[in-house]
Amino acid sequence: MTEMKTALVIGGGPAGLEAAIKIGQAGHKVILIERTGSLGGTLRKLYSSFPRWENPEDLVNYLAEQIRNSSLITTMTDTTVTAAKKSAQGYQVTLETNGGKSKEIKVGAVIIATGFELFDASAYGEYGYGIFDNIMNSLEFEALLKEWANNKEKISPPKTIAFFKCVGSRDRSKGMPYCSKICCMYTAKQAGLVKELFPQTKCYVFYMDYRAAGREYEEFVRSVIEQKHVRYVRGRPAKVMPEDGRLLIRAEDTLMGLPIEVTADMIVLAAAIIPSQGTREMASLFQTKIDQYGFIDYETNQPLKAGDRVFFAGACGFAVEILGAMEQGAAAAAEVLSLFNQEN
Ligand SMILES: Cc1cc2nc3c(=O)[nH]c(=O)nc-3n(C[C@H](O)[C@H](O)[C@H](O)COP(=O)(O)OP(=O)(O)OC[C@H]3O[C@@H](n4cnc5c(N)ncnc54)[C@H](O)[C@@H]3O)c2cc1C
Ligand code: SF4
Repeated sequence: MTEMKTALVIGGGPAGLEAAIKIGQAGHKVILIERTGSLGGTLRKLYSSFPRWENPEDLVNYLAEQIRNSSLITTMTDTTVTAAKKSAQGYQVTLETNGGKSKEIKVGAVIIATGFELFDASAYGEYGYGIFDNIMNSLEFEALLKEWANNKEKISPPKTIAFFKCVGSRDRSKGMPYCSKICCMYTAKQAGLVKELFPQTKCYVFYMDYRAAGREYEEFVRSVIEQKHVRYVRGRPAKVMPEDGRLLIRAEDTLMGLPIEVTADMIVLAAAIIPSQGTREMASLFQTKIDQYGFIDYETNQPLKAGDRVFFAGACGFAVEILGAMEQGAAAAAEVLSLFNQEN
């Protein structure tokens, strides 16, 4: 029954990669599947990471190398799970490639690490997302930052960029009363990166609060405000209107108690973190608990257990930063190893 000491890890972002590496290092077989053509998850889309301005590609390469070097880890990209059947010792799972080829495997435990996506900001008609090209969400902006960094000499820098925080999050009317936890940090990072690439560009961050609870986080945001001269305006923008090819933002500066108008060339929306489509699908196939927003939920007193022989890690369980996702990956791996050891 050696296949029952094999773990299936679903999702090749930082959480899934760390989980697979740790199980492999402990001497058990792992099948790691990733729906897209490459490993790395959202890290592949990021230009730089808070709180240390690191290149996320270095981390992806480091993790991918450990995966490649392990003889116990089998990686299947362009693959997902289309069916799962519970047995006494584990699951019989159907894997299917994007090309339509399918394969049955038996595994003793499953770790779901299928990550998140961003809320569709076009739900806020007043912000113009999906209508104007120069209004984008934060992941689209990461791609633009990469493009700018690679072609810096050829770019004519924007005069002004505005960042709107809490778009979707903390808004009961949109069904997401929760704080998405990481967007204060990545917004500070993105504004700081703009100032590094184009020091003359003015950056405004419109915010309700800023939340920076984490090691080096407060210092990071402070350095963006004080050393990179990003201007933080406390207030929720009320409306965005096109004006001569630019965007006129009307808001109220709630600290000054005054209306404020800013004309920007571009607006970046920090849209709420929501469970990915893959997370919703896997939760349904493996019949895990989910919370009211669709994030995978844990069993009482077992923080990373979502069902019998099913564990989870990373942003499929809630918004989390890279290190947190990896820590959860390692902890979910420990749960699987403990289960396998008990069955010796
Ligand atoms: C704009 C933005 C900037 C950010 N910047 C930072 C930063 O600077 N520093 C930081 O610490 N964090 C940052 N983050 C957060 C970081 O992206 C997350 O912490 C991290 O990606 C979570 O890792 P994960 O493995 O849980 O999920 P993901 O990275 O989302 O990976 C999930 C993987 O699962 C795969 N998958 C999904 N469904 C299936 C399926 N059914 N079958 C197989 N595979 C599947 C996906 O294709 C994906 O590869 C940022 C997030 C955003 C939105
Ligand atoms: S982390 Fe910051 S930007 Fe994101 S929802 Fe919470 S308060 Fe708003």
